[in-house]
Amino acid sequence: MPERSMAQARERRDYERTASIISAALTVVGSSDLAMRGLNAAVKRTAKSPQQNMIAEWLKNYTAPGSPGNTMFKNIRHLHPNSRKRFVAGMIANFFMRDPEYTESLLEQRGISSPTAILISPSMRCNLRCVGCYASEYDNEEELTEDDVENIINQGEEIGSRVYVMLGGEPFVWQPLLDVAERHPQSVFLVFTNGTMINDRTADRILEVGNVCPTISIEGSREATEARRGKGTYDRVMAAMDRLRERGVMFAISCTATSQNIDEIISDEFADLMVEKGAFYGWYFLYMPVGRDPDLSLMPSAEQRLQLHRGIVNIRNTRPLLVADFWGDGTLTGGCLSAGRKYIHINNKGDVEPCIFAHFATDNVKDTPLLDCLCSDFFKDIRRMQPFGKNLLRPCPLIDHPAVMKKAVERNNARPTHDDAESLITTLQPGLRVYSKAVRDVLNPVWQNEMSWTHTWLEPDFEYGRRLSRQGDADDLPDEAGEEISGETDEEIDDKVAQEVGV
Ligand code: SF4
Repeated sequence: MPERSMAQARERRDYERTASIISAALTVVGSSDLAMRGLNAAVKRTAKSPQQNMIAEWLKNYTAPGSPGNTMFKNIRHLHPNSRKRFVAGMIANFFMRDPEYTESLLEQRGISSPTAILISPSMRCNLRCVGCYASEYDNEEELTEDDVENIINQGEEIGSRVYVMLGGEPFVWQPLLDVAERHPQSVFLVFTNGTMINDRTADRILEVGNVCPTISIEGSREATEARRGKGTYDRVMAAMDRLRERGVMFAISCTATSQNIDEIISDEFADLMVEKGAFYGWYFLYMPVGRDPDLSLMPSAEQRLQLHRGIVNIRNTRPLLVADFWGDGTLTGGCLSAGRKYIHINNKGDVEPCIFAHFATDNVKDTPLLDCLCSDFFKDIRRMQPFGKNLLRPCPLIDHPAVMKKAVERNNARPTHDDAESLITTLQPGLRVYSKAVRDVLNPVWQNEMSWTHTWLEPDFEYGRRLSRQGDADDLPDEAGEEISGETDEEIDDKVAQEVGV
């Protein structure tokens, strides 16, 4: 057997063994409060750094009898063994099995760590037409072949990326999806779906494959969900959740927050219903002005973003539903994850985009190796500016620091990946600047008064330390994105922008 295949076989054996051990351990931990106390004691004993101690303290409170994490572990115990071992334990195994030597050498030689996740939209076809969906503007005739996707995942696994987030369009419209996941048992697949195609047959197959976690879109109530996704979708989504729960498949939810549905998606009723339906975790996204007829008025206002963040924290502190705020939890991740810092998005044409919401590219994975795409000047430029500001409650170069993405696109000659994508850096810029200023005014005091714990948490984060040493936000610094506005005070810029947009 050639050396490479032997190494792969060995790695696969190790992975299988580790995932089995973790799966068995999860079953034990979920069996009693005593076992959970044992887990806490073990984590506490091994914690050395201030960050690890914070994790140990959080875990202790989260899993205390009667606390949401206690129920969460018990629920994990009741998952079907396929889902528990191949998805949950697989996710944990991948985290621990990352080879630090390889990561370090990659960083040294190419200036990049392997991204935690690779997002792939093999096709933009969809069985629904949702309001504000970013996918609607792409050409939906073109799509990646099964070989293209295999090739991307093989290259990704080669550099240590083992989490694949499958998007679209509707990913289940792309037929080979579950077969591809099955051929990569050492990776895990998060499939962002509208849920309407998860019938009994598909649910059975998801269970059989095991390393797939459907993440189902829902907008709160029946009315809100159907207003965005179309009549009849709510019942189909509920039925899909029932099918997955009955089979013991782990699944998650995904909510898009607009200026009109915040109260609903953070309400106790909604959170309780999702727990009852069997969801384990969830993602909250902001409406982004990048889809069909982008509408800035649909973006949650600055105050609503704060309300959303507080609501999300409340849900995860009080219910066995681990929900994440894709923007506000920049406090946990050290800011923006895009451009390969933690993830990238590959669209249906093979264009490699910095983020699912940033539709610009300089490279295509069909003619450039994945690692070279990750090392493009465009991505390096974005990464050297991350995080774009010290306040990680407003981490985004698209909506919180809009001058930054505009500059990065222009100076690297990145091209829009679909018609109208450039509106984000042209016609929408004035409105986005007004928006970002309002967000700054609301979220800066919150950052200063309530988020001091992040300094301890992010102490080991190299990029955060670099930003602190550079003082200002990226959009104010001449060597980053600030050339066009240097010399003007914030007030002068705000007045100018307000005049431009007539507010
Ligand atoms: S570009 Fe914005 S939306 Fe994308 S990862 Fe960065 S902060 Fe999040």
